[in-house]
Amino acid sequence: MKLDIKAIRYLTSEDWRVLQAVEQGSKNHELVPTPLIAHLSGARGGSGVHKCISALAKVGLIAKVKNAKYDGYRLTYGGLDYLALNTHRKANSIYSLGNQIGVGKESDIYITASPEGRRLVLKLHRLGRISFRSVKNNRDYLRHRNTGSWMYLSRLAAQKEHAFMRVLHREGFPVPEPVAWSRHTVVMEFIDSFPLRMIESVPDPGKMYGELMDMIVALAKRGLIHGDFNEFNILVKEETVGGKVELKPILIDFPQTVSTNHANAQFYFDRDVECIRRFFERRFKYTSNERGPFFADALKGVNAEMRLDIEVEASGFSKKMAKELDRYVEVVGGDQAEADAADGADEDADEAEDLDDEEEEVEHEMGEEDVQEDPQVDDPKLAEQLGSLS
Ligand code: ADP
Ligand code: MG
Repeated sequence: MKLDIKAIRYLTSEDWRVLQAVEQGSKNHELVPTPLIAHLSGARGGSGVHKCISALAKVGLIAKVKNAKYDGYRLTYGGLDYLALNTHRKANSIYSLGNQIGVGKESDIYITASPEGRRLVLKLHRLGRISFRSVKNNRDYLRHRNTGSWMYLSRLAAQKEHAFMRVLHREGFPVPEPVAWSRHTVVMEFIDSFPLRMIESVPDPGKMYGELMDMIVALAKRGLIHGDFNEFNILVKEETVGGKVELKPILIDFPQTVSTNHANAQFYFDRDVECIRRFFERRFKYTSNERGPFFADALKGVNAEMRLDIEVEASGFSKKMAKELDRYVEVVGGDQAEADAADGADEDADEAEDLDDEEEEVEHEMGEEDVQEDPQVDDPKLAEQLGSLS
């Protein structure tokens, strides 16, 4: 599943309307019947809609399903990508798209820029693209989902990530500034940095260790546990303070964040602490004299006004949504679970499931050869402009 924006500037306004109609129809239909697409797009019938449908299917933004009981189409991840990009473009959140800088377990990360040239990051959530080696139980829960339900979970992940980043950034936590979210995507500040896992040594490991543990405690005091607090999700940025270069840890990746009221809160808190403790021992040969921090201590003196988990819930990311996503996170685990699984992976367990697998069951109306390759961008900085909206 690659993001290919070549076709974006050639879509007509009718094409966009039809694409939106397929998205809208997907809320109630796994496969959106063609007459419903025509109806929802507001077209008055005739060949116009069919021309748009062909054009969209040709570039893989919608797809026909083989052996379906009726004539219809479903939205592909490519189509969802385009809809999100179009929203960001219209809102002036982003203007151009550059290189892919990260392939997370379940996300793709691109450099992008605002119309003013500010460097930003576009994170596309791709839940369902998991390596099955990290999943020990409940495989059926994953196997029996369709594309639509993965897209729904990816949207929840993006919404949740944006909601938590918004409050954390506002409260002065070292997290990237969130700029916008649409569907399964979040636009945020670009952090010029290296992930902690790539850093071989630091001048003062004790100082950074203390800062990270303080951050875990500060989060808990605001009602939150990151849940995947480790060397994969901490970016280390160089900052010049009074002529001296200092290393500043920035926390990213929030879809698995839980409330301190969560039934397993203590477990998640202790795991976050343990991940950092273990990493500092292994990588920097640093062991703290102090035990802890401890969950019970962190919660001392906390009152409801301080609780960001309550605020986020009230702001629209509901308990029901949180539960749906929690279930997924429990089954799949975070970056740490993936890394642990990779360490101990045997051949047999190494079967990877990809979002594209499902594409095998679908046919593009105009033939596969029309689907274009991912654009190669040589300029590391923002080569591809999204073009103006027709
Ligand atoms: P995932 O959920 O797939 O683990 P992450 O949010 O952890 O995704 O991002 C994956 C990688 O992308 C990070 O390890 C980092 O290298 C890069 N990245 C993510 N967000 C940013 C950002 N705001 N600035 C710079 N790099 C980022
Ligand atoms: Mg991550």
